[in-house]
Amino acid sequence: MILMDRITVVVPCYNEQESLPIFYKEITKVLNKMKDVEFEFMLIDDGSSDTTLSVMKSLAEHDCHVVYQSFSRNFGKEAAIYAGLKAATGNYAVIMDADLQDPPGLLPEMYQILKDGEYNSVATRRITRKGEPAIRSFFARRFYFIMNKLTQVELMDGARDYRLMDRQFINALLELGEYNRFSKGMFSWVRFKTKWLEFENVQRVAGETKWSFWKLFKYSLEGLVAFSTAPLSLASIAGIVSCIAAFLFMVIIILRRLLFGDPVAGWASIVTIILFLGGIQLFCIGILGQYLSKVYLETKKRPIYIVAETNIKSERKV
Ligand code: UDP
Ligand code: MG
Repeated sequence: MILMDRITVVVPCYNEQESLPIFYKEITKVLNKMKDVEFEFMLIDDGSSDTTLSVMKSLAEHDCHVVYQSFSRNFGKEAAIYAGLKAATGNYAVIMDADLQDPPGLLPEMYQILKDGEYNSVATRRITRKGEPAIRSFFARRFYFIMNKLTQVELMDGARDYRLMDRQFINALLELGEYNRFSKGMFSWVRFKTKWLEFENVQRVAGETKWSFWKLFKYSLEGLVAFSTAPLSLASIAGIVSCIAAFLFMVIIILRRLLFGDPVAGWASIVTIILFLGGIQLFCIGILGQYLSKVYLETKKRPIYIVAETNIKSERKV
């Protein structure tokens, strides 16, 4: 029987040697104030190439509440979150970035909301994107707009992965054992009752963002493919539209032939039409390919992550 509430703090870390000690200091300050709760730090080293793992080890030496898992290579933040939640022993878990962009100060409030019993999870979103390149914000906004139009899941603009959830929510998430993981969509898919808190964007304390524009672009495509099949219908729509256009052209050409004779001058227009249709076809095949590749990866049933090193005892029951 659990006498005291226990919160597992899941922290995915990829090359966070500078941020992690600062994060640890800040979060312990907050946690020390929450007297009626027990804590567990679940640090996930996502195949860092710097000294992140040594930092984790030294934290674990000084604090018995720190457990770490180190991946054999970089598997991505989503895999790290999954690994963390899977090994979490708390009846609550919170996901936090190591760079202090998720303000630890919100945690007591989040806990209180869950404690009151009405909600299963408390999520956060930033209402500003201060300090972010304008072009990145612009595309991020477009992405949320498209996702909300094309998918069943509802994504909040500016939603962070910073979220405190109860055991029921965690278990539901863990049941989604898919290989292509898009957390923001999964959170929304399992839904339950979620309360949203808002905060102003905070800059990274140290180090650099791991997300290049290209990486973000690929990530957004993955999210779309994972939660919507709408792009697949695009091929049919494009087909119908070009059939109608072709029919209209045919009528025009026949009428022109009957009324004005046929001066045969059409090389440019034919080439344009061929290129245009070829383009549409390749585009649609590309969409099919996206889905097919996801199916391919899922059917392989490869593990989502591989742990190379950890201080979790194997007999530990989760
Ligand atoms: N991260 C990770 N694996 C990756 C990329 C990022 O575990 O492949 C972690 C990173 O260490 C950080 C969090 O995910 O704790 C968010 O990353 P970042 O701050 O670079 O993203 P941003 O806040 O700029 O969106
Ligand atoms: Mg960050």
